[in-house]
Amino acid sequence: MGKGHVDPRIDDKLEELYRRHLDAEEPTLAKYYTPGRGYYPPELAGEERDHFGVCLVSTDGQVYGAGDYELRFALQSLSKVFVYGMALCDHGRERVLENVGVEPSGNAFNSLVFDERYNRPFNPMVNSGALATTDLIAAEGYTEAWERIRGTFGVYAADDTLEADEEIFREEMRDADRNRATAYLMRSYGMIGREVENTLALYLRQCSIPVNCQDLATMAATLANGGTNPITGRQAIERPYVRDILSVMYTCGMYDFAGQWAYEVGIPAKSGVSGGILAVIPGKFGIGVFSPGLDVQGNSVRGIAVCEELSDRLGLHVFANESEDALLQA
Ligand code: GLN
Repeated sequence: MGKGHVDPRIDDKLEELYRRHLDAEEPTLAKYYTPGRGYYPPELAGEERDHFGVCLVSTDGQVYGAGDYELRFALQSLSKVFVYGMALCDHGRERVLENVGVEPSGNAFNSLVFDERYNRPFNPMVNSGALATTDLIAAEGYTEAWERIRGTFGVYAADDTLEADEEIFREEMRDADRNRATAYLMRSYGMIGREVENTLALYLRQCSIPVNCQDLATMAATLANGGTNPITGRQAIERPYVRDILSVMYTCGMYDFAGQWAYEVGIPAKSGVSGGILAVIPGKFGIGVFSPGLDVQGNSVRGIAVCEELSDRLGLHVFANESEDALLQA
């Protein structure tokens, strides 16, 4: 799919934003993550230092991309958003809430701490929460559940060919000690009920789907558009559940940086350890950013900087109260 853009002025602004952030210092850079290699320090990074793309897709289907916006990377934690939506569609709010809460945990995404009062993971945006929502996908078995996940993600991204990368999936399964321990611990607490290894594999397989910034921005734009993909007109999720997803993204989407993100950037977003961030401006557009350099919390350093600037310049913070004039001058 090409860019299909319509306004060259927006292209120019995005290109300028991209160039500036490509060259900017990254004072909070702490690590990189690659499947199979795990986390490694910045001094061991090679060409991935310069990998950086950004894409915007509007709710009327315009696409604007800059930098490596077509470069693919693993979806990782970004998948949690869409599987949570599937669980909501399959079971409704009340039932899903029995198995996974909507409280920010304040802990890292792979924490083994649960909400003990309710015997459930704190929220669906951390690993334990995603294991719980994955366990809820309505299907007869592994293959059917996987086909449903793959198919739904494809509707969000306007790409029916989305599929897991088997090499990445194998690496994720090989390095799954912590996720496996989490899943078994959850079963012992009665938080998941199905075959643990299947739920674990379904979770890690959804993490292993390669996407690019344009896919991410399209997925985000589908949420911005009430659940209907603005490019294909296909419905990815029932409209009432979009509000639930965005609420949880807003409060829990950026791991243990979620509060500061809500405070400073003020838009619903989700990050993943491969360096992707997707952000949703309801009724307007979706943002997909990718740059693999991560801060201590595991969020993309350039991704955060770009979203901060877009939020600031376009007055996107949900509680911003800018005058019309300020918006026109941005
Ligand atoms: N596959 C990674 C994990 O389960 C995804 C986590 C993430 O992106 N934060 O640990």
